[in-house]
Amino acid sequence: MNAQSDTKTDYCGGCHCGAVRYEINGPVNDTVMCHCNLCRKLHGHVSSYARFNRHDLVLIRDDGLRWYRLSEKTDRGFCKECGTGLFWRPVRADHMAVTPGTLDDSANIKTGGQIFCADKGDYYPIDPAIRDLDQS
Ligand SMILES: [Zn+2]
Repeated sequence: MNAQSDTKTDYCGGCHCGAVRYEINGPVNDTVMCHCNLCRKLHGHVSSYARFNRHDLVLIRDDGLRWYRLSEKTDRGFCKECGTGLFWRPVRADHMAVTPGTLDDSANIKTGGQIFCADKGDYYPIDPAIRDLDQS
């Protein structure tokens, strides 16, 4: 993206209003859909997150970024201006995850599976074409 940068930017993305912009300078895993009650509450529906190495994250603009402490172990990153959900991160780990819908170009990312299918909402069906990672 930036021809003057000597490191390749693999992914760019951001929130709806632009108060958060990021680059991920490394690989991003396939995304995992989560049907748990917590994710459906936080996102308004099923969530989807794709893991990457947290050291590959470069925040180009972060004045909108707020971290919500979900539990003793995890934080959720969102834009305080427009409400876009962007990141999930364990408090102590080298990986974190991005919501694939916030990527400018997610063409290289696939849906790798789904989890917490037993906790899904009553208002929608499970897609059997997506691998159930709880069963494997
Ligand atoms: Zn925003």
